[in-house]
Amino acid sequence: MKVILFSKNRHKAKEIQNILDNAKVYIFSDFIEPFDVIESADTFKENATLKVMALKEKLPKEIIQDSILMSEDSGICIELLNNEPGIYSSRYANISDLSNKSDINNAKDASDNENISKVVNTLNTKQIESSPAYFVSCVAAIKNNQLLTSHGFMYGKVVNKILGNGGFGYDPIFIPDGYHQSLGELNQDIKDYISHRFKALNLMKIMLK
Ligand code: IMP
Repeated sequence: MKVILFSKNRHKAKEIQNILDNAKVYIFSDFIEPFDVIESADTFKENATLKVMALKEKLPKEIIQDSILMSEDSGICIELLNNEPGIYSSRYANISDLSNKSDINNAKDASDNENISKVVNTLNTKQIESSPAYFVSCVAAIKNNQLLTSHGFMYGKVVNKILGNGGFGYDPIFIPDGYHQSLGELNQDIKDYISHRFKALNLMKIMLK
């Protein structure tokens, strides 16, 4: 199975390759000039769909023919922060007003450190040490012109301390249910087995059979 993934995030692509062990996962920039898609929708599913449809538009037909096109939209919802940052997880630190659509659409992705600092500072300002939280992943795929989507979730808590430096994104402040260490401290093999992405991709694997 040949998968062409719309992503610039090498960590994410590596996780997806580990999980899709029966496939060869290529990043879209292996075939075409990389481009951006404005994630202007209101749900993970709609944003994942926007990305995979844009990929279908741009890739030459002969490359699409024997490939599965794929995108993934993911993020973290922190319950005591009104489920923020949610679909805005990658640009969270660059959005000053989450009620302003143009502010949101103009915001560029922030670094992992900037996003984590914003969460930690917000929790500290509200004197919250930890909050229930969950990661969401929506995978969208196009196979033989048919659009498929699947979701996966990972539940746990977010803490106001940076623990470890493994993984990416919000991993160092997230402790999954059933564990005492953050995803920044846990072995990547464990994360690959319990993650939102693992669950969404496993469902997608079945749908793609
Ligand atoms: P996307 O690339 O637009 O889907 O943005 C996803 C953002 O959500 C990433 O930049 C991370 O900040 C965050 N995120 C998604 N999945 C994970 C994960 O597995 N660990 C940590 N952060 C994640």
